[in-house]
Amino acid sequence: MAIRLIFTEDDEVLFKRTREVVKFDDKLGELFDDMRETMKKADGVGLAAPQVGLLKKAAVIEVDDIYLEMVNPRIIFAEGEQIDFEGCLSVDPSKNCKVLRPQKVTVEAFDRHGKKYQKELEDMAARACCHELDHLEGILFYEKAYKEPKKPQTEIIATDKEDTAQQ
Ligand SMILES: [Zn+2]
Repeated sequence: MAIRLIFTEDDEVLFKRTREVVKFDDKLGELFDDMRETMKKADGVGLAAPQVGLLKKAAVIEVDDIYLEMVNPRIIFAEGEQIDFEGCLSVDPSKNCKVLRPQKVTVEAFDRHGKKYQKELEDMAARACCHELDHLEGILFYEKAYKEPKKPQTEIIATDKEDTAQQ
């Protein structure tokens, strides 16, 4: 196992779509071992292959007692909403922002041996899963920053009546 370099948003690898994994070999197993170790060392809850410079559909999440290795993952069910702050090991913490995510998801993926599985995830684990799947599409979380809905305007805005009439 080895700690891998975590690429930052200065690198274009983070903005590219990844390719499906077709070979479930020792190299893939090694990648997962390294990604888990790298994520733990960096105190993260998830890591996707582009963050270690590889354009492959592979990602890990580790939230509390849930640890998942996901190959070619897709979300097959999503329910509810949660709005909370998000950050990323590849992005400066000053860019942390709120992101709207589903409260619950079911992810379908393959494990490192090519066995297909489904897993239901909630709360933080659902958030981490969505965040990592976005990485596999070349999307960073802040591109999805949640904007608070504007409060209804109650004040009467003084306008030039002539201008208004012409609209
Ligand atoms: Zn990230």
